[in-house]
Amino acid sequence: MSFVFPRHSKKTLPTVARGEGPFLYDTTGKAYFDGSGGAAVSCLGHSDPAVTEAIKAQVDTVAFAHTGFFTSEPAEALAEKLVANAPEGLDRVYLVSGGSEAMESALKLARQYAFEKGEGRRRHVIARRQSYHGNTLGALATGGNQWRRAPFAPLLMNTHHISPCYAYRGQETGETAFDYGQRVANELQEAIDALGAENVLAFVAEPVVGATAGAVPPVEGYFKRIREICDANGVLLILDEVMCGMGRTGTLFACEQDDVTPDICAVAKGLGAGYQPIGAMLCSAEIYDTIRDGSGFFQHGHTYNGHPTAAAASLAVLTRLVDDGIVQQVAPKGAKLRSALAERFGQHANIGDIRGRGLFLGLEVVADRETKAPFDPSLGIAAKLKAAAFEAGLICYPMGGTIDGQNGAHVLLAPPFILEDAHIPLICDSLEAAFSAVLPSA
Ligand code: PLP
Repeated sequence: MSFVFPRHSKKTLPTVARGEGPFLYDTTGKAYFDGSGGAAVSCLGHSDPAVTEAIKAQVDTVAFAHTGFFTSEPAEALAEKLVANAPEGLDRVYLVSGGSEAMESALKLARQYAFEKGEGRRRHVIARRQSYHGNTLGALATGGNQWRRAPFAPLLMNTHHISPCYAYRGQETGETAFDYGQRVANELQEAIDALGAENVLAFVAEPVVGATAGAVPPVEGYFKRIREICDANGVLLILDEVMCGMGRTGTLFACEQDDVTPDICAVAKGLGAGYQPIGAMLCSAEIYDTIRDGSGFFQHGHTYNGHPTAAAASLAVLTRLVDDGIVQQVAPKGAKLRSALAERFGQHANIGDIRGRGLFLGLEVVADRETKAPFDPSLGIAAKLKAAAFEAGLICYPMGGTIDGQNGAHVLLAPPFILEDAHIPLICDSLEAAFSAVLPSA
């Protein structure tokens, strides 16, 4: 008899007993290779001594002090280190407890900034279909993930969605990748024109789309065009790097590879690497200064903002990622994993696309490689793949609705950055076992 309200009431889960490196073990002793870091969280594996020591030391010093009364050394040091390693132009850090909170903070800060600047008409948020920005109501309304939104639709604020930059599905025959990117980016200008530029607050996007579409990177030039459009219309660019940030794609911030700096950026997941719940919103000096010189009070806040123990853990994580050179290892390790996946599944009749950046990789599952036709959603392919991989000892993150919230499926891989060569065949073997068990053409 359990009193826990679980995610799925009709499933029985094993109980986790311990974590060691990239492995989790349940209470029966079964080992699972954590090939997705849960949901792209555990970038340092499960037993990093530097991080666990930092947590213990902080708890022994002061575990918590409310930010209404105190700042703290770990929060100050973490913010300073984040800014020092962020793209030029992100100057202030607002610490929260996770990704949804970071996105809610971003949306509210955008609105308060416009309000204090005397641009109170700016209220419309534009985002993209096939995106996810969190499960709280503002973040959920912003996301374009149809199945997640549907039951709550009557409660969601009115938002607007343009096409994702999803070349495998959207690029037309005879169109270059660059032209495709410009075409879909220009949808932002059309949406702004339709709403009236003076009414538009922000555009929100994941630089590399995570769970909803399966590690979909933008094509070259896409985000540069998006930035231009935002600048031309006085619209803020909010990038959601909750999943793709903190080194996951090979650079600390994913947007570095697209050569753009957002006005506001949300990070979480890898920021605490699972050792503590933490998220952060970074913003430009222009936004911060407007609030500082205006009301002086960001009308937001949660009890656990800037939690000292979470900040201490995150500072240790960031030190490992940046000072120990772990982020630099992500691109070469990702390239190795990707080529192993391509070798093993590149010709698989039910794998239409293998994509991603760094150690953030997606395999899109199709019924027919030629036509890219998806499986009938009623088959529940993604859920079956998740269960079969788990059975085979691999934690990965399959999801259905890849194409439009209903059709399509993919498998997302986001293994820890401490991945070793020997782990790669293990991932491929377990995936192959799952594909053989579930896919008809295996
Ligand atoms: N944004 C993105 C891109 C995410 O992938 C997620 C979680 O998966 C979130 C926001 C929400 O983060 P959290 O689950 O920590 O609230």
